[in-house]
Amino acid sequence: MSLFDLKGRVALVTGGNGGIGLGMARGLAGAGAAVAVAGRNRAKSEAAAAELAGLGVKTAVIEVDVTDEAQCNRMVEETVAQLGRLDILVANAGINIRKAPQEYELAEWRQVIDTNLTSVFACAQAAYPVMKAAGGGKIVTIGSMLSIFGAAFAAAYGASKGGVVQLTRALATSWAKDNIQVNAVLPGWIDTDLTRAAREQVRGLNSLVLMRTPVGRWGVPEDMAGIAVFLASPASDFITGTAIPVDGGYSVQV
Ligand code: NDP
Repeated sequence: MSLFDLKGRVALVTGGNGGIGLGMARGLAGAGAAVAVAGRNRAKSEAAAAELAGLGVKTAVIEVDVTDEAQCNRMVEETVAQLGRLDILVANAGINIRKAPQEYELAEWRQVIDTNLTSVFACAQAAYPVMKAAGGGKIVTIGSMLSIFGAAFAAAYGASKGGVVQLTRALATSWAKDNIQVNAVLPGWIDTDLTRAAREQVRGLNSLVLMRTPVGRWGVPEDMAGIAVFLASPASDFITGTAIPVDGGYSVQV
């Protein structure tokens, strides 16, 4: 089997119906994996799954709110029921609420932490027994530049994404004995619905990103396909607990 071949593997991508999740799902499908697309918006998920099916792989559409533990468990059960197994979990679903820390309602804080951090724990917990029974698996989590840096408008988001990196390390160390590798991807500034809203809400963001990113452009969802395939494939079997920036150099330039 080639190092990057995912034929016969099944991937579940939360938030796989758009943006970074769909960019990663396209990569996984291109490498031969069947893909379950999970999100709240069924119409969006069906459109994404239809596109992925065009690459010649099996797909499933799963309606889920990842802030609900029971729904995360059901999502894993449905993936196995529809596609036969689960080898790769990409815990990608995420949101942001941008405002100064002193203006945050506690309910908003909880919404961001629940969606971006607690859901990763719940989805990974749901996937664990299936992967363990199959002899191994791959879990990819999504951090951010705000796993590393601070931002005045992103207290909850930054806390959630810093937490994702530490959670990734804990899962990696605990589950290494089960042949489950767990790694985080730290995307730079990627042009998606999420950051389109940020460009409207944070004055000067577009020029800051262009000035600070050495490659001189925003990333696009397709830039996330390669890292997804690498971290989901046998090529990364000795890599676990890492947090890999995919950022056009943003995190290495002052
Ligand atoms: P999008 O807004 O395009 O995608 C977010 C996805 O998450 C959607 O598919 C959405 O699906 C899903 N989602 C949100 N809340 C829930 C929920 N409660 N239950 C299930 N699914 C949910 O944003 P991005 O693609 O940009 O973001 C994807 C991930 O990448 C996030 O974790 C984000 O924090 C992270 N990231 C993004 C960066 C960027 O520059 N774009 C940079 C660094 C990290 P639906 O609407 O159907 O529920």
